[in-house]
Amino acid sequence: MIGDRQCKECGAPKRLVREHRWLSNGTIVQRKNPYHRMIFIECENINATYRNLEELVGVSIEHLLIEAKRKATFDFIDRLLLSGVKTFVRLSGARIIARAVTSLGSTMGYGKIKLADIHRIHGRDDYATFRVEKPYSLPLLCGDMAGSLNAIDRREVGISYVQVSPEVYKVTGRVSDHPLELKERLEGTRYKYKPGDIEIERCPACGGPAFLSQYHWDLENGIITSKSSGHRKAMIGPAALESVIEELQHELGDTVAETVIEAQRRFVKTDFYSLEEASYEEGLRKHLYLRGMGNLRELKWSESGLYLRLENACLHLVLVGLVKGLYELGIGRDAEVEWELDASGSFVIRALPAG
Ligand SMILES: [Zn+2]
Repeated sequence: MIGDRQCKECGAPKRLVREHRWLSNGTIVQRKNPYHRMIFIECENINATYRNLEELVGVSIEHLLIEAKRKATFDFIDRLLLSGVKTFVRLSGARIIARAVTSLGSTMGYGKIKLADIHRIHGRDDYATFRVEKPYSLPLLCGDMAGSLNAIDRREVGISYVQVSPEVYKVTGRVSDHPLELKERLEGTRYKYKPGDIEIERCPACGGPAFLSQYHWDLENGIITSKSSGHRKAMIGPAALESVIEELQHELGDTVAETVIEAQRRFVKTDFYSLEEASYEEGLRKHLYLRGMGNLRELKWSESGLYLRLENACLHLVLVGLVKGLYELGIGRDAEVEWELDASGSFVIRALPAG
């Protein structure tokens, strides 16, 4: 059943369509802040890549994921709230933010999020507990909660969770005595966009991209699934994922690039994506721009290998892993890849048979 919050024609949540723009240059951005980029990505891609990364690195990277997402979410909400509103929100309590997070969860595919308990006397022991069912990613959602609480409280927040049942968690944010240090504002990637000429078919009723009708939108539970593949998806900002990679590079050194590529390659080789769709130029172009991952300008298969040139790419190392995995599936053997951001700002990836 389609409720009032959804377009009668395509079924997409009206709020999601209202707050985002799908551009002809292969990007998805927030309408109010065109520098805030978004991707519409399979949850399993994020979670499997994260699991593979942990396995390859050999230590837990959960705290890095939570911290990067916290900064990104704080930055996003802080920019969104006008200063007068900030004071109001601070005084009126976390319930407003709780409602915002809950509704974000329902339209962006983050899961079912409900405020379970709140203790707020502006003292030392303030906390808020959320009941979260089927989160799109537990560490990323913990980061969302911490960042949201930061934005209203301006104090540091410690986040913890307990598992209640296989897919249900209680996530608690405890506010500490320490004021939040604003110098840690996330720098993030300032994307420079090149113009494009991708024509996205639009829904005649809401003006959103017509392909959104290929998804089932369960707003009650915050779950978006592809009607054809059954894959679950979520709308998230790639900046937080990019800063996790940067943070890993900072802590673990240069081998991280190879590790990120390998983590994504392993995921792609599980046959999650259809090779058929991704092996010809128009198919791969569509695969990428529908996810907001950039504008594929060139794709050449030849005896010697595969050449790709993309504009407005994001999550570059993940893309390299994706291309490597797809190419290996195509040729049935291992491949080597090289990549560069060329002088014009295009991202070039070359894959060739290994050895
Ligand atoms: Zn529509």
